[in-house]
Amino acid sequence: MNVIGKVTVLPRLPAPLRRLEELAYNLYWSWTPKAQALYQELDPVNWERFQHNPVQTLLETPAARLEALSSDPDYLGRYSEVMEHFDAYMNKGSWGKGGVWAAKNAPTLPPVAYFSMEYGFHESLPIYSGGLGVLAGDHCKSASDLGLPFTAVGMLFHQGYFRQLFNKDGWQEEAYDELNLTTLPVRPALTKSGEKARVSVRIAGRDVALQIWTLQIGRIQVLLLDANVPENSEDDRKLTARLYGGNQDLRIQQYVLLGVGGIRALRALDIPASIYHMNEGHAALMGLERVREYVAQGLDFRTALEATAGSTLFTTHTPVAAGNDAFAYEMMDRYIGEWPAQLATSRDELYALAEHFQNWDNHLVPTFSMTVFALRMSRMANGVSELHGEVSRGMWNFLYEGADPEEVPIGHVTNGAHNLTFLAQQFRDLYSTVLPADWTGRLEDKQMWEDIHKIPDAQLSATQHELKEEMIAFVRARLQEQLRRTGASAAEVAAAGEVLSADALTIGFARRFATYKRATLLFRDRERLRKIVNDPARPVQFVFAGKAHPADNPGKAFIQEIYKVSRDPEFADKIVILENYDMNVARHLVQGVDIWLNNPRRPLEASGTSGMKASFNGAPNFSILDGWWREGYDGTNGWPIGEEREYTDLNLQDDADSFSMYTTLEDTIVPLYYGKDAQGQNHGWLQTVRRAIITVNPEFAMQRQVIDYVQKFYLPLGERAEKIDANHFEKARALGGWKGWVRQQWQHVQIHATAELPATVQPGEQVKVSAQVIPAGIQENELRVEAVLKHGEQTLHVPMTSSGGGHYEASIPLTDSGLYSVGVRATPYSPDLSNPIELGLIKWA
Ligand SMILES: *Cc1c(COP(=O)(O)O)cnc(C)c1O
Repeated sequence: MNVIGKVTVLPRLPAPLRRLEELAYNLYWSWTPKAQALYQELDPVNWERFQHNPVQTLLETPAARLEALSSDPDYLGRYSEVMEHFDAYMNKGSWGKGGVWAAKNAPTLPPVAYFSMEYGFHESLPIYSGGLGVLAGDHCKSASDLGLPFTAVGMLFHQGYFRQLFNKDGWQEEAYDELNLTTLPVRPALTKSGEKARVSVRIAGRDVALQIWTLQIGRIQVLLLDANVPENSEDDRKLTARLYGGNQDLRIQQYVLLGVGGIRALRALDIPASIYHMNEGHAALMGLERVREYVAQGLDFRTALEATAGSTLFTTHTPVAAGNDAFAYEMMDRYIGEWPAQLATSRDELYALAEHFQNWDNHLVPTFSMTVFALRMSRMANGVSELHGEVSRGMWNFLYEGADPEEVPIGHVTNGAHNLTFLAQQFRDLYSTVLPADWTGRLEDKQMWEDIHKIPDAQLSATQHELKEEMIAFVRARLQEQLRRTGASAAEVAAAGEVLSADALTIGFARRFATYKRATLLFRDRERLRKIVNDPARPVQFVFAGKAHPADNPGKAFIQEIYKVSRDPEFADKIVILENYDMNVARHLVQGVDIWLNNPRRPLEASGTSGMKASFNGAPNFSILDGWWREGYDGTNGWPIGEEREYTDLNLQDDADSFSMYTTLEDTIVPLYYGKDAQGQNHGWLQTVRRAIITVNPEFAMQRQVIDYVQKFYLPLGERAEKIDANHFEKARALGGWKGWVRQQWQHVQIHATAELPATVQPGEQVKVSAQVIPAGIQENELRVEAVLKHGEQTLHVPMTSSGGGHYEASIPLTDSGLYSVGVRATPYSPDLSNPIELGLIKWA
């Protein structure tokens, strides 16, 4: 049939169950197992078949079933309880208005628009590939929890990322299922006049139309862009087919759609936004559209740029150089060639904002880097853990020639995860027995979590055991399904029903199979591993899962290697690998394993979040001291792998890290897990479990993360934007013009300095430094001249004072003994700069 349109007919819901529809369209259910249970009960088979999608399950439920439940007092009781909690959640105080944070005098937060290429909200909405997406989804959920004025923007990929299948040799294959949007919890966004909202974006001479869908996440809204509409050509309809599919040409077009289309979608729906948050460089082209809007209002390019960047935050996630997209200028011309004219600027000036020289085929060529553009189109930026912040500052130091890495204006907010999304209902119930009634609203409260100590050993271990059994049942069913599909014998299928034991120490490892995550590190010394796994009194078993990007053959080879080990009789039943890692598999694993393993090649794991989810559920981490775990590990709540250092020889690093892993398992973890006290309990082990719960839940709560973003970035950026935009962009105009002038003058600025340095001095003495500056056309008050003093790890910046005629002086104190080095430099200064080296102009004497 040639389908000319689709329509969803929802069942007529019996009056007592009327609100099942409303709830199905609010992803509040995605972190509320009791809400999910209401739909599961409608039809448990469909519920599984439809990836736990309430809308689709509801659609397929016969009226008779609904009628029956509408007079079932048990069901109605559960329904009422869920609705009562839902209403309380939707109506609770918001940020600064009666919410938890109102009590702390939270200043008013201007509305935030958050842009991300991918979002992981739930397995039934497969528009994410991994951690980046789940992080974005979790960010939205906590923004709703806190009642922030917040709107998210993303893409509705109608074939999602991909569904992963292993063939009988363990090689990853990809399947793409066309989503039926009418069965998803999304609805067409409507304009004020009630029409389906559409925006259009011109790409390479074509007008691409985008339909806008809305997705309700508790109290906030997500706008999803969709090019699969009849007015587009067949090729254009595929622009939003797949996440991270296709070649560079497709990528750039998707970036244009997200950035430009996303801003237009906000405008088409009259959604206010004062602060713009770009989650990763994919969203950077939003800057084009925002500058264009200002230019259309009559601002010049530089003023428009200041106004745009002045209200923008950029979060970078990629310490792997190859992970930062960069495109040839000629390729950019094809897709944004019309933009310089619309922005009243030149191609040179625009591309200079993204310029990153790269060695391509032994030639140094300028490329358009999405990360560089994002850094230049924002006035605040951050990495996603303390170490990643530091790595990022080093990585982008070259944009600030002459600056020390620690001055590079990239801060950090360590990632978190949305506790309730990943917390088993059994743990929710258990925690409720000892925590205050409102604990789910104060997840970041460290003191509160101390009460977890009150949970008795027996209860804690019984809950863990029950969840481990559930996880093992899930694993077995998945393996059997996979074996049947690949034509395995009946005996093999039956054997898969027996893998793993709920009494054995169980370690989980699941993530994207990027090679730096070293999924096969565990197998470096197979003989040693064989002994650990097969100890008859103290067995250890492993569950693996993860997707490799479709183009990543080395990643796929890792999957195959693990698959082969899992089929080796020596490891059979003790090492398994599951297909199709998604949020559903993730939840089962983080809730059911005893320990979470992560062994990336430091320092390439920007943060990592799966280990947080495991510890929310009482599974301690056993991980490399990289990303979040470097901050989270406190000596009592899990175990480190390797040392806090980097290696130049990767082989050596792998040897050292795997050696450390085996040794800690053999000498520390296995004995602790299998130890029993007089009560038959394992109090020592359970103390580690408690410490994991108590320390990781608050510190790595997404709620803590979002509060950090509000306090460190959203609020200061809001203040700054207000200042810059006041009086018809007076400050933006002044700043933009001034920067142009300073850049011209800078090549003529000269600085010479002398220091009166005796060979040795006593601690507490001062030394005098003086400088002579030829400031070209730059005023004295527009220049910062400073002495820079380095002593060990410390750097001290001492402002030098002018005595006229370009002469500057400072006395600098040498407080401690040791070797000092002294330098003098000048930078342009304006009180309106976001940081001292914003212009990237530094002149050293
Ligand atoms: C949490 C999560 C991730 C990210 O985990 P990392 O520790 O960052 O690798 C990836 N995929 C899914 C499905 C997740 O739930």
